[in-house]
Amino acid sequence: MTHTTLLEVAVPTPLTRPFNYLCPAELALPVVGARVTIPFGSRELTGMVTAHVTEVDESINQDKLKPIIAVLDALPLQPPSFHKLLTWASNYYHYSLGEIYNQSWPALLRKGEAAQLQQVLQWCLTPLGESTSLDDLKRAKKQQQLLAHMQENPKQCTQQLKDAEHSSPSIKACSEKGLIIQQPKTQPPACYWHEEHINEDDRLVLNKEQAIAVAAINNNPNFSTSLLLGITGSGKTEVYLQAIERVISEGKQALVMVPEIGLTPQTLQRFQSRFNVPIVFLHSGLNDKERLDGWLKAKLGLAAIVIGTRSAIFTPLLKPGMIIVDEEHDASYKQHDTFRYSARDLAVVRANIENMPLVMGSATPSFETLHNAQQGKYQLLTLSKRAANASQASHQLIDIKGLQLQNGMSPQLLELMKHHLNQGNQVMIFLNRRGYAPALLCHECGWLGDCKRCDANYTVHQRYRYIQCHHCGDQHAIPYQCPGCGSTQLATAGVGTEQLEHAVNELFPEFKSVRIDRDSTRRKGALDESLAGITNNDYQILIGTQMLAKGHHFPDVTLVAILDVDSALFSGDFRASEKLAQLYLQVSGRAGRASKPGQVALQTHHPEHALLQLLNSKGYVAFCEVAMKERRVAQLPPYWHMALLRIESHNGDNITAFNQTIQMVCQPLLQQLGSKEHPLRQIGPMPSPMERRAGRYRWQVIFESSTRSRLHAFIDGLQQELLRHKSARQVRWSIDIDPIDMV
Ligand code: ADP
Ligand code: ZN
Ligand code: ZN
Repeated sequence: MTHTTLLEVAVPTPLTRPFNYLCPAELALPVVGARVTIPFGSRELTGMVTAHVTEVDESINQDKLKPIIAVLDALPLQPPSFHKLLTWASNYYHYSLGEIYNQSWPALLRKGEAAQLQQVLQWCLTPLGESTSLDDLKRAKKQQQLLAHMQENPKQCTQQLKDAEHSSPSIKACSEKGLIIQQPKTQPPACYWHEEHINEDDRLVLNKEQAIAVAAINNNPNFSTSLLLGITGSGKTEVYLQAIERVISEGKQALVMVPEIGLTPQTLQRFQSRFNVPIVFLHSGLNDKERLDGWLKAKLGLAAIVIGTRSAIFTPLLKPGMIIVDEEHDASYKQHDTFRYSARDLAVVRANIENMPLVMGSATPSFETLHNAQQGKYQLLTLSKRAANASQASHQLIDIKGLQLQNGMSPQLLELMKHHLNQGNQVMIFLNRRGYAPALLCHECGWLGDCKRCDANYTVHQRYRYIQCHHCGDQHAIPYQCPGCGSTQLATAGVGTEQLEHAVNELFPEFKSVRIDRDSTRRKGALDESLAGITNNDYQILIGTQMLAKGHHFPDVTLVAILDVDSALFSGDFRASEKLAQLYLQVSGRAGRASKPGQVALQTHHPEHALLQLLNSKGYVAFCEVAMKERRVAQLPPYWHMALLRIESHNGDNITAFNQTIQMVCQPLLQQLGSKEHPLRQIGPMPSPMERRAGRYRWQVIFESSTRSRLHAFIDGLQQELLRHKSARQVRWSIDIDPIDMV
């Protein structure tokens, strides 16, 4: 056996180490970076060749090595920079490289499909078709029309012909006569675009702050990270567009990351009207083929701009020119299971490896990003004024202590609503709780409807008469009688968006309302319809959860109300106040975007709360200064670094056994790696805030250090040790680096 036939393959299994495989003589040796089909146990998996092995590891039994089954790519599938990026991610997130490779591919590539663009066929005029006179087809009117059309437009897809009302029979007839012929569409040259593909008529004249931002970003085509800190409506998007102008004029490509909720037709439209270039839009409505197609177009340089959510960070670019991460603080950039990466953080690494500028934008940046900006790692660019002459909204706290509320709304709020509605404006009410009510109770015995599988109450959904656990999805009809005492006096407690909608319709019958939450937008296209209805002024009262809070432009909204903030003020989650502040600003940003001045009202039992006062009077940055000081004192992120070990099992005893293993393993490691200058801290094992979910017990251990490298060395050691213990195979456990939700 010659050494070059031995391959190192990253295999999608939980084990982080790569595996060795043989390349049998009948197969061509795959290049490094090609996918291969490999046997793994009884399965066949798609792996990635990461190296040709030249030095045989003596500890591996050569006789046991298996041959690969097939070579799937003749050339490397991803650019070489991706190996660096994904290896970095594997080390940083302590996750299997093979799994990461797999997750970086569109679904069809994972299944072993060829990485080839679908061939698009088109009809072309033949020389005969060109020289044939229309008169020759006098007696076949439809064919004559088709030939006339083709003589004007010599290259047409079948769909284009059908759109022009030519029928299949006439297409067939002309083709049989040799007038037209079907040929594969030729692709334009890669990255063909330049200045002339920019629509300058669409360009806005920048204000001073915007101009400085664009100049600062475009000053350097190499790697740099900028934080564009601009209040809602300050014209961040215009800055992105003008920064991308340079990218386009240099024949390079831009990757634009948006949060889940921001992937709207409006977003696409703004890019399309500025740039006359192919744009790949990776939205959730795409099927697997379309997704692969978009990915390949980006990779081959056939798309100039890629716009997508979290996983779009893995879209390869032939000529990487810039990455934009809009709303960088948004939680949807962090994946919440399996490979728990942050697309925003990977964007920094990718921009560095591929040597291009990265721009992160937000009205309410995360503390992590602000900290980096304050330390000078990121260039801070500020937009402090609203761009289109809109005034800042006025803010008001409504003290609801002791007040009689009408379905969650105070008398003051109802007055305000009446006032704004009567002036012909729109009103937005925000409540982060979907359903009719968050609990069902028995009036007689106090029984509370709680999920048997989670530490959570059932939410009541009145319209379709069911109760549902929002954590495991368990669902039942609303009971007629109390399961505890048999009484029929069952009552709902608390208010959800469904109830609010109901109440508002009764209180303001002369106005129309619309509700936007996960229930009301489940049907495909429903969200876009509702949003269009709002823009069209079909609705005057807009009710919604977080979904309504972000990114939409509603120029006629003049009053925004937030019904309940108190739960966030007193939450055990150390990020709760940051999240509340971000939400507050995002929601307020919806008020008075156009020429109409806006008003923001916030209901609370604690108007004196320092955080609310600060936010209300001084704004987000002032709030951050105070809240970040608290984080520093409490030795929390972004000052300290955090990793979370999550543990889950149906069996509580298995968790107890695993917890003992953890204690045993951690103590020596902590002593070995921690020191006075580089402290390492362990908190737990302890039950997760929601100890039971979907029938599983859940525990967690927090590890913290002021020195990132120590924390990572510790997690490496911990992982290796745990893999050796039987108790670790009897529970599910995973590592979450930089966790953002601890539930
Ligand atoms: P952001 O992304 O910061 O929320 P947008 O880019 O959406 O803000 O801009 C808000 C509004 O201001 C848009 O209607 C946009 O067309 C307008 N706008 C942005 N920049 C300018 C400018 N320089 N001059 C005039 N209008 C502008
Ligand atoms: Zn009862
Ligand atoms: Zn449940």
